[in-house]
Amino acid sequence: MESFKWKSASYYLGKITKINTKHRKKLTNKSSSNINIQKERKEFPIQTPIDLEVPDRENIKISRIIRDTQLSWKVKELNDFKCQICGYVIYLQGKNKYCEVHHIKPLGQPHNGYDVIENMICVCPNHHAMLDYGAIKIIFEKLIMKRGHKISKEFIDYHNKDIFKA
Ligand SMILES: [Zn+2]
Repeated sequence: MESFKWKSASYYLGKITKINTKHRKKLTNKSSSNINIQKERKEFPIQTPIDLEVPDRENIKISRIIRDTQLSWKVKELNDFKCQICGYVIYLQGKNKYCEVHHIKPLGQPHNGYDVIENMICVCPNHHAMLDYGAIKIIFEKLIMKRGHKISKEFIDYHNKDIFKA
């Protein structure tokens, strides 16, 4: 086994200086490339996001009502995916269509509506939002009705009185 021998102080100093010079050269190259990026940015400005910090995660407890999806699918099929208010049908790729189902008397607090077909209406996304926010009144007589899907007037009255607040 070879025994370790310390070299002279000047030897170590020389090594350190070499490393420092190398490192400094690297830094200089880096900063010059940064300048190039800055130049490019002037030509093609990149929008810097205002919020660069990663938002904190928050644990949220969600309680949600499990809806009878089979029932809402039935409502969609019975109405041929057509909005019962405006008659609009959204056609997707292939033969697929899109529509939404709204619970006229909403499920859950404070309305406690029922998940039954008589409380469901097939609507386009626009009318769904309008109904959710009580922006429109439902006129029973003007609804596009299909055989097999009876909407209860009781729930429509509830919407007009308690959600639309006429
Ligand atoms: Zn509609």
